[in-house]
Parts: sequence; C-alpha cells; structure tokens
Amino acid sequence: MDKPDILRKIPSVDRILKNEKIKVLFKEYSYSLVREAVRKVLDSLRAKVLKDNFLEIDEDSIIEEIKNSLNKKYSLQPVINATGVVIHTNLGRAILPEEAIKHVVEIAQSYSNLEYDLEKGQRGKRYVHIVDAVRKIVNVESAVVVNNNAGAVFLCLNTLAKDKEVVVSRGELVEIGGSFRIPDVMAQSGAILREVGTTNKTRLSDYERAINENTALLLKVHRSNFKIIGFTEEVSVKELCELGKQRGIPVMVDLGSGCFIDLKKYGFYGEPSVQEVVDEGADIVTFSGDKLLGGAQAGFIIGKSALIERISKNPLMRALRVDKLTLAAVEATLMFYLDEKEAIEKIPTLRMILEPPEKIKRRAAKILKLFKKHGIEAMLKEDVSMPGGGSLPESGVKTYVIAIRTDKPDEFSGKLRQTQPPVIGRIKEDFVIFDARTLQEREIPLLVKAVKQIME
Ligand SMILES: *Cc1c(COP(=O)(O)O)cnc(C)c1O
Repeated sequence: MDKPDILRKIPSVDRILKNEKIKVLFKEYSYSLVREAVRKVLDSLRAKVLKDNFLEIDEDSIIEEIKNSLNKKYSLQPVINATGVVIHTNLGRAILPEEAIKHVVEIAQSYSNLEYDLEKGQRGKRYVHIVDAVRKIVNVESAVVVNNNAGAVFLCLNTLAKDKEVVVSRGELVEIGGSFRIPDVMAQSGAILREVGTTNKTRLSDYERAINENTALLLKVHRSNFKIIGFTEEVSVKELCELGKQRGIPVMVDLGSGCFIDLKKYGFYGEPSVQEVVDEGADIVTFSGDKLLGGAQAGFIIGKSALIERISKNPLMRALRVDKLTLAAVEATLMFYLDEKEAIEKIPTLRMILEPPEKIKRRAAKILKLFKKHGIEAMLKEDVSMPGGGSLPESGVKTYVIAIRTDKPDEFSGKLRQTQPPVIGRIKEDFVIFDARTLQEREIPLLVKAVKQIME
C-alpha cells in the first residue's frame, strides 16, 4: 500500500466522535476535551505513517489510545510506588490519612475560619489551628508552621542570626536533596556560618571556643541521610543546651524528619523524637510535615514563646506562609498522635515503615497469586527496603517483593512508567521488582493490569 492510501484509511475526527465507545466518554469529559484528544491522536498517527510507512490502521486501538490520553488529562497524576521507599521525595513523600483527605476536601469546599476568630467575631491568626494541636502532643511553649522545613530553617536563621554568627559542627554541614545545603541556606539567610570541629569529631570545647560577642545561635543539624561511623565524637543536644544556657545563647535543632513517636521501641535508632529534643532543652526545633510525620508538606518551628514570637513577626513569614489545605491536612494528621497505636494504624507513612515483615509477605503472596492467575510468571522473594529514603539513615529492613525475570529490565521498567497509572519499581540484576511494602491494597488490581498489558 502507498502512503496516500494508508493516510486515506485514517478515520476522520467526526467519524471517531460518533463512535459509541467515544460517546460514553462525554459523561466524564467535556466535548471539547474529547475532540482535542481525538485530533491529537489522529495527528500523531498521520505523522507516524509519513515517517515510518506505518501500515496497520485499526480503529479499536485508535480509540484505546484516545482513552489513554484522556486519562493523562493532568500533568500531575497518581503513580504506583513499588520501590519500597516510603518517604520518596520524587514521588510526593506522604500519602495522607483518610481523615486528613476528608478534612482537606471539606475545607476546600467551603469558606472557613482560616483567619477569623469565631468567639470574638474578628480577625484571627492562621497558625492557631496548628499550635493547639502541636501543644497537645509535645510539651512545648509555642509553635508556628511555614511552607516546608527548608523555609523553617531559613526563617529561623534570618530572624535570630542575621549578620551574626551561628556555630555548627563540620560533621553537620549536610546536603539534603540537591538544593538544600546548610552552608548555602545560612548564606542566603544573612547569618554567618562559624564551623567548628572536624568531619568526624566535634567536642563541646570546640563550640565553647567559637563563642564570642557576635554569636547568635548554636545550631545542631540532624544528619538525616547519612551516618558517620568509626572514630567519631559529637556533642549531644543536652550538652549543647547546657552550654547555651551558661552563655545565654539559644540552641536550635534542625531535626529534619520530625517524629512524634519513640521509634527506638520499633527497632529504629538514630531518629530522636521531637519530644526528646525539646526535653533536652532545645530552644527552637524545626522539622518537616511530610517526612516521618506523614502529613502534608510543611515546616514546623516549635520552641520558646519569645523566640517564636520574633520569628512570627519576620516579614518573610508572609512569603513562606502555608495554605489552608495544608493546614487542614496537617491538623487532621496531628490528631492521630494523641494515641500512638492509632497513629501507627492510620497514618500511612508510619504504617508502611513499621509494618511487620509477615504482613508484607502476605500482601506479596496475594499479588503473586493474582499474577499467576493472569499467566504472569513471577517469584516471591525476601529482600531489603530502604523505607526512609533520605529520612532515616538506617541500613535496609526486611521486606518481601514480587520479582519478574526479564532480559531487558530497563525496557520493561520504561514501559511500566507509561501505563495508567504508571508503576515505579526497582531493578536488580535481570529482575524487575515490586516491593509490597509501599503497595496499597487498592493498587494491587491496577498493578496486575499494568503488568499484564506489558506482557501481551
Ligand atoms: C529534609 C530536611 C530538610 C528539608 O526539609 P523539607 O521539608 O524538605 O524542606 C532540612 N533539614 C533536614 C535535617 C532534613 O532532613
């Protein structure tokens, strides 16, 4: 067949729009959106014919492609996280608890008392909604919340130490993600970095010697995404706070993850709880809302009232302020922390990180069974997940995965990223791996469908 003949076989936009399978789509999508999708798919088909002498013109597969492209209506879309990394920054970090989602919807649908004091009938403060919730969980004087933890650290440094010195250990000048580096944030905030000690060893006397009349803050940064092992020494928050008190200099701790429960009970060490750090005497503590806390993106600043008040009055606060949807999500998430058992059950981040391996194995077995039922050859294997991503510097924890052997794991993974919804797994040697730790129950049928589609 000649190219002009093939091109003539491509159906017209009108013809496709009259197809019954397309007509049902008008219930869900507007006419113009469907017509646009039809036009796009037909245009790209025409381009393919011109380029590759593409032969087969099949109306059913054209319609399938149109449906797929409508599903991809939005650029930001859900994906299935089969990586086993629970706190995965690139995949959006936290899945919100059901109640938090409900509260977000409720607040989005209505006007709210965001900045309105219902008792007094006058302007109120947007942060009260969070402060009360935090103070029920942590024994702390005051709190405020901004857009994210990077913003929280920046705002604290800018308020408390602009043009003044901040003492930090050389072992804590960390980079978190590509763009958050303590020395850079410090420079941007206008504070002067006074580094002390060495990469592996910092002593209290190092801090002591660095203090002068221009010192505004002693800062301790949680290392979050790496460990220093071997010949090491560091100063505890408690010791640093004693020194700060003696010299009249406030101590700030950037905790990163912000966990409200004691993870040591569950075998995770090296991640102090917010309460622990507050009890050790920190004047200001900052942490994220969407790492271990499991809520929406936010940056908490908690601590002494006098300092929080100064921070709240910084004009930059306005630039870093949180949206009402964030406040709704965060407040509803915080509520669960009044009862630790409930928090672990209902906050997906905590549930996935602390889930016992036998339970993960059961989920993996269920997936395997469904794969087999659909003729997909796969294996159940014990493996290791890194649930914290960059948030818990632990070595891996035991998990169970479904593994599919393939000659071309990269190609297979590439195709999985194009399914609806896209599936993101791991590759290990010639296996594509789905870690059952981060797979949600409702995603299991979708995963099976996606893999089946690729195998065909
Ligand atoms: C993650 C992290 C940050 C940045 O927090 P975001 O909420 O991502 O802005 C800052 N400091 C530490 C120690 C961290 O672990």
